[in-house]
Amino acid sequence: MRHISSKLIHGDLDSKNKEKYNSLKTSIYQTASFDFENSNEMEKAFRGETNDYTYSRISNPTVIELQNRLTMLSKSEDTLCVSSGMAAISNVFLTICEKGDNIITSNYLFGNTYSFFTSTLSSFGIETRFVKFDNIEELEQQSDKNTRAIFIEIPTNPQLVIYDIEKIALWAEKKGIILITDNSILTPYIFEAHKYNIDIEIFSNTKFISGGATSIGGTIQIYNSDKWKNIPKLKKEYELYGSKAFYKKLYNEIYRNVGACLSPQSAWLQLLGLETLSLRIDKVNENTLKVAQFLNDHKNVYNTEYPSLKSSKQYDLSQKYMPKGSGCLLNINLKTKENCFNFMDSFKMIRKGTNFCDNKSMVIHPSSTIYWGLDKKLKENMKIYDGTIRLSIGIEHINDIIEELNQGLNSLKM
Ligand SMILES: *Cc1c(COP(=O)(O)O)cnc(C)c1O
Repeated sequence: MRHISSKLIHGDLDSKNKEKYNSLKTSIYQTASFDFENSNEMEKAFRGETNDYTYSRISNPTVIELQNRLTMLSKSEDTLCVSSGMAAISNVFLTICEKGDNIITSNYLFGNTYSFFTSTLSSFGIETRFVKFDNIEELEQQSDKNTRAIFIEIPTNPQLVIYDIEKIALWAEKKGIILITDNSILTPYIFEAHKYNIDIEIFSNTKFISGGATSIGGTIQIYNSDKWKNIPKLKKEYELYGSKAFYKKLYNEIYRNVGACLSPQSAWLQLLGLETLSLRIDKVNENTLKVAQFLNDHKNVYNTEYPSLKSSKQYDLSQKYMPKGSGCLLNINLKTKENCFNFMDSFKMIRKGTNFCDNKSMVIHPSSTIYWGLDKKLKENMKIYDGTIRLSIGIEHINDIIEELNQGLNSLKM
């Protein structure tokens, strides 16, 4: 068996679908629709009796190649790529939830995911219940016969909280409730969902997969599961397709009707990103741990949170779920917003940006940007503090990153 880093570069070497002219790169099939030999073939394609392409909102060869490589990476049953991480989340919930249903999650969530749950899903009569996942009792109390799924980010963004997924998965297995994880921060290269009874995994390709912020995209990974039988909305599909029920409902109905397909150009950029994925993530893990150690020791930093730091309360969980390293994000506490702003404004190379998993190091003050519209109490509930900044470490030379951080910290009047 070849190593995953080789597979991501070469794809399936036994595939019969060879590139035209022996091109060593996947072609970009920049077309909306496809031609047929004759009407008979066209009819069969529309009935789904052949694998011929019809229309790029439904499937496209460049996107399919990206999906094939992501299946290799995740060891999933089925993969569907969509236009963004948020499209992955909305497609999944529209496939399993209907009016009167509820889902359970934590209030440590990516901003738009929180808004999707509390504003968008709620307007369709779907309720979101928030729990602390370190307490199974609470899960027990909050779930009922209409609970369709549990949704967890690993780790949460921006708090970097790691929940004990294995415990939650055992509980969900017992209850027959679908477990969905958001693996945008780590990708399946670091956190391997297939090992933990997770039913559905989503991630934003925009982060590490894109090769460094080249394009927007998202992925839905579906793992082997029989829990689909407990979802009323999948009743018909379960009778017809059994363990493929979720995938069939998603692919044949929701995905086509929502229309958030990935463009072939973006799929190509993300294929290119996959070729260097392991290289970049290994470097980011190495750099971020060194930066975290440096910040943790600096007298002007009140607190540093990076789960792979030996001093972190989450160190053991990080070793269990993210043994290669916990990715590019770390949080530091500088006590006041003013300190945070002065620190950020001292940078030249470290950019101010909302993205992460870029090749470039980046910084943001979450409280005044992503979460600016939330009231004080809600922010505190979500652990969004005025004195905290989030750093995303890139693949620049470690000495340059540390030098800039050091100068910025030393100039603060603490
Ligand atoms: C970025 C991100 C998303 C959304 O992805 P987009 O590609 O920006 O739509 C969802 N969840 C997490 C944890 C993210 O970091």
